[in-house]
Amino acid sequence: MSQNDTNPFSTIAHLESINQCIQCGTCSGSCPLADLMDHAPRELFALIREGAYEEVLHSNTPWFCVSCYACMVRCPREIPVTDLMYALKEVITKQGTAPQNLKMPDMYQAFSRNIKDTGKVTESLVMARYGMKHPMDALKNIPLAIKMQMRGRLELKAQKVADPKSIARLFELTETSKDKP
Ligand code: SF4
Ligand code: SF4
Repeated sequence: MSQNDTNPFSTIAHLESINQCIQCGTCSGSCPLADLMDHAPRELFALIREGAYEEVLHSNTPWFCVSCYACMVRCPREIPVTDLMYALKEVITKQGTAPQNLKMPDMYQAFSRNIKDTGKVTESLVMARYGMKHPMDALKNIPLAIKMQMRGRLELKAQKVADPKSIARLFELTETSKDKP
């Protein structure tokens, strides 16, 4: 396991809550995707506490998290496990260390970029951005896109909230706020 003195996760809101983790493993035992993760949530937090940041930056764990919240509602120390997984994805995306063999980081990037830019999801734009990295997936989805378009269920024009900058600001706050929940 490689060690790095600088904590790339130090700006994450509530990261300090993992110091309350008693390593009971309830989160890992509750997680439906734990078998696919290289480090289940309990282990991931132990790695961060040990300063094994490189291991965490390259871990597939946050990318397999499906935000079911099972870990978070059961944690006896009320650690916001799911929220931390989101924040880890954001930091890992900025650091460019997501595992190359996974498609989820590219979907995450396409989705979050769209939200940050416009404050709303426009499926066609998300899939267009994702399709630039995975053209075969984009091609496979064309028949479905045509059907949706014919039924008026696919917006081609970017949807926007009145003040998209406020949404981008919310992203920043969720990553860096040190306020208690
Ligand atoms: S359930 Fe909570 S206390 Fe237990 S290992 Fe997971 S994060 Fe730590
Ligand atoms: S929220 Fe994520 S980490 Fe927690 S149990 Fe669900 S999939 Fe696993």
